[in-house]
Amino acid sequence: MKPQMQQRDMSMEKPGNPDSVPPPRRGRRRGCPFCSSDSAGQTPTIDYKDPQSLKYFVTERGKVVPRRISGACAKHQRELMLAIKRARNIALLPFTMND
Ligand SMILES: [Zn+2]
Repeated sequence: MKPQMQQRDMSMEKPGNPDSVPPPRRGRRRGCPFCSSDSAGQTPTIDYKDPQSLKYFVTERGKVVPRRISGACAKHQRELMLAIKRARNIALLPFTMND
């Protein structure tokens, strides 16, 4: 019996880790800003009469920010888009901005 210690940590055959897990994104917290009502205490409301808060979810060109970016859940994204559409209809928000 020969005790063989095989240490092949330096195997350069396969580049890239098979167990590579993408690192967790830090900085921006994921989650619907309307559902979450933790530490901050103030949950933004979806109100078509409040263009100031709606503007946060509209791009400079007047498009609705996609859910992937806004982080809103499906339910609130729908309410958001409805509010933005209403706000547009009463001219609180622009449809498009061409400079
Ligand atoms: Zn939500």
